[in-house]
Amino acid sequence: MQFKAIRGFKDILPSQVGTWNRIESEGKRIFEVFGYQEIRIPMLEKVELFARGIGEDTDIVSKEMYTLTDRKGNQLAMRPEATASILRAYIENKLYEGHPVRKLFTIGPMFRYERPQKGRRRQFHQINVEIIGDPGPKSDSELIYMIMYFFSALGLHDLVLHINSLGCLDCRAPFRGALKDYLKKYGADLCPDCQIRMEMNPLRVFDCKVERCIQVIKNAPSMLGFLCHDCAQHFDALKAHLKELDVGFVVNSHLMRGLDYYTRTTFEVQTQELGAQNAIAGGGRYDRLMKEFGGPDTPSIGFAIGVERVVELLEEQGDWSEAGPDLFLAPLGKEAENKAFIWLQELRKAGLKCEMEYRSLGLKAQMRHADRLKARKVLIVGEDELVKGKGILRDMVTKEQVEVPLDSVVSELIEMKERNWI
Ligand SMILES: [Zn+2]
Ligand SMILES: [Zn+2]
Repeated sequence: MQFKAIRGFKDILPSQVGTWNRIESEGKRIFEVFGYQEIRIPMLEKVELFARGIGEDTDIVSKEMYTLTDRKGNQLAMRPEATASILRAYIENKLYEGHPVRKLFTIGPMFRYERPQKGRRRQFHQINVEIIGDPGPKSDSELIYMIMYFFSALGLHDLVLHINSLGCLDCRAPFRGALKDYLKKYGADLCPDCQIRMEMNPLRVFDCKVERCIQVIKNAPSMLGFLCHDCAQHFDALKAHLKELDVGFVVNSHLMRGLDYYTRTTFEVQTQELGAQNAIAGGGRYDRLMKEFGGPDTPSIGFAIGVERVVELLEEQGDWSEAGPDLFLAPLGKEAENKAFIWLQELRKAGLKCEMEYRSLGLKAQMRHADRLKARKVLIVGEDELVKGKGILRDMVTKEQVEVPLDSVVSELIEMKERNWI
């Protein structure tokens, strides 16, 4: 019997892992420079945590969670996102003590029972970054600046940043009313889901993907017209900071981000490349959520990056090649083989990525092997070279050859690596 992975669950193969590692290590490097600390949270949490945090009537909670009942009858869910868990951990472990502002990030898989299609998986991966404890707008701009810097460091450039403000509870209530009045006029044109949303939570209609709802919402009133004085000032300052930091953006008043907990700043980074699934990162401010979870009243902002989509973009750019070894050792004859075997381990210890074939093969077969592995250089040591005390170092691309003294071959090669000659 042959087994297959579950629908929507994918293996990340050795040929792809290089891209994944590059995204993760570049992220960690940049986040640490900006003062963020890593936190690792569990895969399973109580269902109520997400129902409370994300919103009972969101698609994520009502349709897409992987839930299970454990042996004691507890209702558990595979985490569909990270923010709720991070806040739970922050409160439970009193991470606020001694730290007025906490900057955290986490990287890992999330689970949602969605229809698998291009760019969507049921196990998908996110990089989550949060600033807990600062009301902004400097934090908001810092966070957005960092995410755009991260993407450019990865070599992704044709991205568009959309920003919006969802206001606070005070200014959202009148907006909600105006939106409801507007939607009522088109009630019959909306999809059945939106007919319910219109009454329960009209902001959700912005997230609907049904074409006739998209048409109706096009001319809906804008939240930006309803911002109170403080919220308007916050949004103006965010725009000013982004301009000062030379971060380009588009104001998109329809950007709602589908989660109940957002207040004020929301944003999304979009690409034209991936068809309909064009957001590769998004986030926003969630000033009320911490208090709702029973923690101290703490304003916060965060974002999530969809790692699969970033991988896809990098692969489209041809940036997915498996890096070959720096060096392939090609000894000929027993004596050279034994020496090369020791050099191999010493070079690896010094950080050179080296390979060697252990089945005594002829030069041609070894060169073929080096070629298949995509080695940058090959060190050839036959009987003649042993007698002369000099090996031949061949560049596999340019075919250039230089001699390397064998009595100090390990240190010579390490030096070449340091000078980036290998
Ligand atoms: Zn407001
Ligand atoms: Zn709809």
